Amino acid sequence: MKKEALLTEERTLDPQDWSTLNELGHRMLDDLFYYLETTRQRPVYTKPTAAALASMQQPVPEQPQDAKAVYEEFFNHVLPFNINNIHPRFWAWVQGGGTPFGMLADMLASGMNANVSIGDSMPMYVEKQVLDWSKEMMGFPETASGLLLSGASLANITALVVARHAANRDIKTKGLQSVAGPLTVYGSSETHNCVLKGVEVIGIGSDNFRKVPVDADYRIRTDELRRMLLEDRAAGYIPFCIVGNAGTVNTGAIDPLNELAAIAKEHKLWLHVDGAFGAIPNLLPEFADSLKGLELADSLSFDFHKWLYVNYEAACVLIRDPQLHREAFASAVNYLTLHERGLSAGPDGFNNFGMELSRGFKALKIWMSLKQNGLETYRTLIRQNLQQAQYLAELVQMQPELELLAPVPLNIVCFRFNPGNYITKQLNELNREILMRLHEQGIAAPSYTVLNGEYAIRAAITNHRSRFTDFELLVNETVRLGKECLLTT
Ligand SMILES: *Cc1c(COP(=O)(O)O)cnc(C)c1O
Repeated sequence: MKKEALLTEERTLDPQDWSTLNELGHRMLDDLFYYLETTRQRPVYTKPTAAALASMQQPVPEQPQDAKAVYEEFFNHVLPFNINNIHPRFWAWVQGGGTPFGMLADMLASGMNANVSIGDSMPMYVEKQVLDWSKEMMGFPETASGLLLSGASLANITALVVARHAANRDIKTKGLQSVAGPLTVYGSSETHNCVLKGVEVIGIGSDNFRKVPVDADYRIRTDELRRMLLEDRAAGYIPFCIVGNAGTVNTGAIDPLNELAAIAKEHKLWLHVDGAFGAIPNLLPEFADSLKGLELADSLSFDFHKWLYVNYEAACVLIRDPQLHREAFASAVNYLTLHERGLSAGPDGFNNFGMELSRGFKALKIWMSLKQNGLETYRTLIRQNLQQAQYLAELVQMQPELELLAPVPLNIVCFRFNPGNYITKQLNELNREILMRLHEQGIAAPSYTVLNGEYAIRAAITNHRSRFTDFELLVNETVRLGKECLLTT
């Protein structure tokens, strides 16, 4: 067939007029800088309007639209209704606030469109650098391996797969049928739900995740752990992994990791530590005692997007034994083998260390942010958040109508409005209503949890934009709304 007959005009997705898109790009950047600079002036929560919701119920577009019009739709219908974890009074769940520099780094990574998996390219080395820094920050040996992932959830599953491989190398090829009895995993009752999901996904089954009771400080009871291990062994189960928490999601409790490491060694079990946010204070010398044992774990997960304030998504898993890590995921396939020279040379592919083949260039925003701020800045900000948590706890305790519901070992504060004379059920409803009004009135966005049946308003402070006065506002407004609810119900 003749070339001319194929197409009248050869097409591409690149702009026909580069300067127009360039101009629009600059406007986007201006808009975003303004948006970030003025975040404090807007309510922390704005309910998506009917028009915004309707804009997401459209048929697949058949005809092309002007880039500017598409951007304007984003500007009017998406941007104003953010989850808004960039706001100084956002303390819901555990979410970091990102940074303007991180945003720019993401733009660079996207511009390169780098697929960081295999091949002789610099992004591979940027990720290796970030992994080396991660080992250093967490006290892991240089020889350890690691991988960047979308979040601690995926980091935890990745570690569990390696732990399972360590328990029995036949599982990889023959499945769980090759094990002589049901495998069991141990972690405190405060362990994050994503670990249970991981245990389900890798075929162990969440019934075989043993929820070990916690003490009054929400730390795993190691006496109970020992008892459960012996009991399970006697009953024919095969314990293979302990999951320790460096910072539980409910209250920020740090398990006695050193003791868990000793138990793991004694019983020949894998020790994984979920340090999604609570491993980060390992950067502070004052946490040397409470996080002791972290550096002994066989694997560790932590997020960059929470308490290191890197833009979503960015997390890391570290594995002490690199051979085991590789063995658990690698398989030789013809189209992925490395060559001596050319683009197919380069370092060992990251696809050999996790589930993903195609992977984005998450490493760039981490690398650039760590360089721009230096660990000293992070130490200052983490300490600031820790002090703010203590300050909030003090403010709560000073208010006669408020009640602190859990110890504050880290950056999470659980409290409630309790004017006295109400039973738990009423208090739970009252505080749930207060929380919804705090959000609806755009004041502040803590979230919630339930501790021993008591509904708690919960502030998780991984926010580099919060000021001490923001917590005064939270306390005053909680009391005001509490009284308002009592009047109206
Ligand atoms: C947030 C969190 C996770 C899950 O991390 P993602 O980054 O959201 O996937 C796991 N464990 C703990 C303790 C967490 O706080």
